[in-house]
Amino acid sequence: MSELLGTGVGRGVAHGPVLRMADPLGEPSTAALEGSADDAKQAVHVALSHVAEDLNKRGQLAGGDAQAVLEAQALMAQDPTLLDDVHARIDGGTNAERAVYEAFGQFRDLLVGMGGYMGERAADLDDVAQRIVAKLRGVPAPGVPESDTPFVLVARDLAPADTALLDLDKVLALVTRDGGPTSHTAILARAKGITAIVGVAGADTLTDGQHVVVDAVAGTVTTDPSDALVAEVERRIADRLAAAAAPITAGALADGHTVPLLANLGSPADAAGAVALGAEGVGLFRTEFLFLDSPTAPTVEQQTESYRQLLEAFPGKKVVVRALDAGADKPLPFLTDKDEENPALGRRGLRALRNHPEVLRDQLTALAQADAATEADLWVMAPMVADAEETAYFVDLARELGIRTAGVMAEVPSLALMAEQVFGTADFVSIGTNDLTQYTMAADRMLGTVASYQDPWHPAVLRLVAQLGTAGQAAGKAVGICGEAAADPLLAVVLVGLGATTLSMTPAALADVRAELGRHTLEQAREMATAALAASTAAAAKSAAAAAHAA
Ligand code: PEP
Ligand code: MG
Repeated sequence: MSELLGTGVGRGVAHGPVLRMADPLGEPSTAALEGSADDAKQAVHVALSHVAEDLNKRGQLAGGDAQAVLEAQALMAQDPTLLDDVHARIDGGTNAERAVYEAFGQFRDLLVGMGGYMGERAADLDDVAQRIVAKLRGVPAPGVPESDTPFVLVARDLAPADTALLDLDKVLALVTRDGGPTSHTAILARAKGITAIVGVAGADTLTDGQHVVVDAVAGTVTTDPSDALVAEVERRIADRLAAAAAPITAGALADGHTVPLLANLGSPADAAGAVALGAEGVGLFRTEFLFLDSPTAPTVEQQTESYRQLLEAFPGKKVVVRALDAGADKPLPFLTDKDEENPALGRRGLRALRNHPEVLRDQLTALAQADAATEADLWVMAPMVADAEETAYFVDLARELGIRTAGVMAEVPSLALMAEQVFGTADFVSIGTNDLTQYTMAADRMLGTVASYQDPWHPAVLRLVAQLGTAGQAAGKAVGICGEAAADPLLAVVLVGLGATTLSMTPAALADVRAELGRHTLEQAREMATAALAASTAAAAKSAAAAAHAA
């Protein structure tokens, strides 16, 4: 047996034979253009349209997050600046395939140079270029191999178009050499519940037919596993299947202490899927989708209609909507400052909204109108709030505009440190562990080189959660968790032990978390939390929690 390391996505484990994805198309030749430039441009035009149409079609088939990703790729294929560049190269005597390859390659290098989130979009752009070149060459676009039997798919990286349409009956797990925790491969794999490990440096050494174990929890790919390991994996797979097939019950600990399990959603279209997986409401509705790709804010009427669709899917249930979180990786031309050197530390979230109060007022007005027209229990919260003064600003404005329940996200350590005062005004707090971890550890969550710091198990993060949990309990107010941490079953139990009253996560994670909660009582969850708090590293906190009460 030997072991390769990478970043695990989700909670799955699988084993089976490797099947490698074909390597990308060879580089187009540098031979000079034959025939007329106009004919070459026309061929490019046809290829671009075909590729964009195909991506849009795949998006419609896939729906949800995948659709947004694929439509963004279709837009890349039709980007007018890129097309101008391709035309200029053809006019300069370059053949059509080469012109596409070079123009897209230049733009790709620019994205890679920007690093972080933009850098991770490079794979999306490469895929578009490959599809266009394949079309021009008259060969099939590179993609997922066909097989009659299930396999572990190993690839350099996977294009969103491929990830979105993976046949889950055939693909046991996914291993990619490239990609970080925020790459689209990871995001889509998480949303589809595929066992995946990204960023496996040694993935190139895996060969077709080789038997491997893929353990997303440990982030390992084990080649030629022992019989004992395979038996252990089979047991874990059976446990997960049992959890997924178990009747959907309300989230609760073993002693009956209830912990409502809510969904993180990014569009009203995802509501039905979340309900089917047992979401008891929505703990985080990200409203950015309404604003991104738009040169101006949507009107109150447009927003009201979207919020109404969302709320109608959850009659009688709690739905927590987050005010627009612009800035950092989600810049908006009409709202955020372009020239900030450290946008994650800049005017983002509530800071940007406070600078443009008309945008916030419109959004809150639309939410209040949608609330009045539906039966859901609407709660509204602000992102990136620093202290009690900002909390009071948001809560007062929300109340003035007709919002009945108003709270804040705890993402900035200063807010957690001021928890008692914050609860003096806010109706509730929801902890965004992704940003809370980024800011506590001073490690950019988009930067692969500091990914090891982005671990919400770190006792420094847990101490802030504990402070919020204690203050919330004293005030008799709700303390939700809506960052990725809530989707880690063992950590979810610890968070409840620290005082969290609800957990919100990507719907695919609900079954695993529901099953783990049922294995511990509140007293045991508190013992696990105490053990984790006393540790000095993230890894030690995790082991200490697991040892404090092995279910
Ligand atoms: C968070 O920061 O944990 C969070 C839920 O918000 P987002 O991931 O959208 O920044
Ligand atoms: Mg956040």
